[in-house]
Amino acid sequence: MRSRLITRAKPSVFRVPRAQSYAPFTTTQATSPFRRKEDATLPSIQDRTQDRVFKDLPLSDLARTLSVLSVAALPTPLLSAIIGFVRRHSGLIVSSRILSWPIKKTFYKVFCVGETRSEIAANIATLRSRGINGVALSFAREAKLDGSAANSNSGAEDKALSSWVASNIETISQVSSNDYIAVKFTGAGAASVKAMQDFNFTDSTKFDGLKALKDGMFEICDFAKQRGVKVMVDAESSLHQPAIDYLTLEAMAAFNTQGSALVFNTYQMYLKASLDNLKSHLQIASTKGYTMGIKLVRGAYIYVEPNRAGIIHDTKPATDTAYDDAVDMLIRGTPVSSTPDAKPWSAEVMLATHNTQSVDKAMSLYRQRNHIGQPVQKLVFAQLMGMADEISMKLAREIKAAKAEGKSASGSDVSVYKYSVWGSLEDCLLYMLRRAEENQDAATRSRVTAGLMLKEIGNRIAFWR
Ligand SMILES: Cc1cc2nc3c(=O)[nH]c(=O)nc-3n(C[C@H](O)[C@H](O)[C@H](O)COP(=O)(O)OP(=O)(O)OC[C@H]3O[C@@H](n4cnc5c(N)ncnc54)[C@H](O)[C@@H]3O)c2cc1C
Repeated sequence: MRSRLITRAKPSVFRVPRAQSYAPFTTTQATSPFRRKEDATLPSIQDRTQDRVFKDLPLSDLARTLSVLSVAALPTPLLSAIIGFVRRHSGLIVSSRILSWPIKKTFYKVFCVGETRSEIAANIATLRSRGINGVALSFAREAKLDGSAANSNSGAEDKALSSWVASNIETISQVSSNDYIAVKFTGAGAASVKAMQDFNFTDSTKFDGLKALKDGMFEICDFAKQRGVKVMVDAESSLHQPAIDYLTLEAMAAFNTQGSALVFNTYQMYLKASLDNLKSHLQIASTKGYTMGIKLVRGAYIYVEPNRAGIIHDTKPATDTAYDDAVDMLIRGTPVSSTPDAKPWSAEVMLATHNTQSVDKAMSLYRQRNHIGQPVQKLVFAQLMGMADEISMKLAREIKAAKAEGKSASGSDVSVYKYSVWGSLEDCLLYMLRRAEENQDAATRSRVTAGLMLKEIGNRIAFWR
């Protein structure tokens, strides 16, 4: 069934555009705790997508997403040339109505949630009406990491930091309670970025350099707390990550003390050290008595890490195994220390992934444990807006159906969110380019999405069937 769906749905334009450095959708290695017999009895998301997952989307949305996916399916040299052109001439593109109009109507509408408050509110309401439980909202404007800190003056830097705080506070005011905002520390200006690069856990004199950034983060968290909004800190390159971990753990220790998580840290499972890092952070949290907020990703900085071979898993399957092992540990609540006095940890978990296998394995394990009355962690899944919509929509439908039937086994403690960015076309341009590149890297997944959308359009045309 599964292979027939994919084969029949594959349109010729959605061919694999470049040699993959890995085999997408490979299974995890034999050591993975997910390779258990019980998993095989549950249908996968791909199997389950037979039942018209895009049935509720208007034709205009289907056509728009298909047009974006077909750009991502262009031959690599052509797409790279287009992306290079857009990067070089971004000023010209955003200032020209003729050039910006088609981008705004396609890429921007697919990947971004809007620019004005009313536009953002309307688009979030649409996502909710389709069963998505909420959003992780992020302001799209990015700081240029060009090493200009040395030339910056302190007045300009204070302004950069306060404008970063203000934009995060504005983002909080655009979402509802139990939604998330996503915070990127490198957006706080060149001096903050320099202090992050200089930071060293073992040298306490470096902690002072992060004081202003920490104060800014606490101001954001204070406002988020008043509004019941969660603050999710994005993981970035390994150059900045030690400072990000430090700042986020400090914020967690201060704000995650009421038995739930307000602040979330992100763990990139493509890093060889991440599982140990995650365990040690869980240990710190249980010792200090706060709840960990954990967002689990594979990691997006593989091409920019200077010491990739040293720190990133050698193969894609090794990253997949690391991701799935961490999910297994978190869902089961496995102790992170074998010492007899080790305290149990508590955490809220967001699985941020577009990987069908990882989603299926997590759901299988969750259901199976719930079914036999074993404790499980509350689970939040998240996908980027405009990406892997078939996974988000399918999860949304399953969660809704389970809740309607009053079944807790697969629904009540599972939710699905969309990570969405807001801002003007200019603010969002770099973000959109990265999504276009990512769609091309994930060619197989893009083909699945496109195939299901074409099938849905076919179903509507052949309405008599
Ligand atoms: C809601 C959301 C929030 C996110 N937030 C962040 C964030 O804060 N920080 C961040 O860094 N990323 C973030 N990402 C991106 C994420 O890290 C992945 O790049 C992206 O989701 C693709 O991974 P995947 O789990 O969907 O699965 P797949 O598409 O199956 O995996 C692709 C990933 O596998 C890894 N990989 C690919 N080739 C190799 C190889 N040869 N060797 C080792 N590993 C390899 C890379 O991490 C690559 O991105 C986020 C993603 C989502 C959906």
